[in-house]
Amino acid sequence: MNKENKINLPNEFKFKKKFGQNFLKDTNLLRAIVADAKVQDNDNVLEIGAGAGALTTQICAVVTKGKVVSVEIDYTLREFLLTKFANTANIEFVFGDILRIPTEEIMAKFGGKPFKVVANLPYYISSPIIFYLIESGLPIQSITVMLQKELVDRITAMPGGKDYGALTVILSLYGRVTKTRDVPRQMFTPMPNVDSAILNIEIQPTSLPIISIAKVVKACFAMRRKTLVNNLIEGLKLSREEAYRVLTKLNLPLDIRAEKLDKNQFVALSQEIENLQN
Ligand code: SAM
Repeated sequence: MNKENKINLPNEFKFKKKFGQNFLKDTNLLRAIVADAKVQDNDNVLEIGAGAGALTTQICAVVTKGKVVSVEIDYTLREFLLTKFANTANIEFVFGDILRIPTEEIMAKFGGKPFKVVANLPYYISSPIIFYLIESGLPIQSITVMLQKELVDRITAMPGGKDYGALTVILSLYGRVTKTRDVPRQMFTPMPNVDSAILNIEIQPTSLPIISIAKVVKACFAMRRKTLVNNLIEGLKLSREEAYRVLTKLNLPLDIRAEKLDKNQFVALSQEIENLQN
């Protein structure tokens, strides 16, 4: 193994499965992730899950004029990371759970300026983290994340298939979604049981009420084996009569399932549901 590619960690460090700790070591791959994120010297970057700081190092190598904020849940890495980056002026670490840090705190770290998200996400909560980012209202320019390959396939799936789901629809409304590369499991230490891939989302400004659409989409896919009507009744507390009325208005068959709807039909559906409430 190339010496440059060895993971540097405190001697007493133990990998914690519960935090999804599968670290990267290959410098070329780490640089490629930063390149996929199209990070520039004056960008601001939020990293989620610093780990041993391998990706953080490559982000900081490019971001020389902007600011890097890296959130890490594992306090046992605190001293190690603070020491490792003691001479890097533009990085700030936040130790805690990304899902529990108030969005205002993240906003304040960047002085209200827009930022890019770059992360090798912990598998066990990657979908909740993506939903959190989208629903946060934070000024995010792009999201470039390492995810389980299966999840990337689901996110980039076309309507109609079994992979197509709530995340697919919501992310396609939020921005331009592309898989930039596959990453085999051998690239991680310890090696996980699954392969990975990198997803890039270029966020496009939209006037759509993403948060309320996301609520409708999530409810529609909550029970995949049930019809759309039954999901609307269970998840959004519509009466059967209201659910039928909405579907008829959109010229949709009453026994249709959520996976048959494309993103524009979900936008129309959520608009009709909102009209019911007004
Ligand atoms: N960036 C490093 C790398 O590429 O080698 C580590 C990536 S590892 C897949 C995920 C990291 O996220 C771990 O360091 C883990 O402790 C951290 N983590 C897990 N859950 C987290 C959470 N809720 N908030 C912040 N960090 C978290």
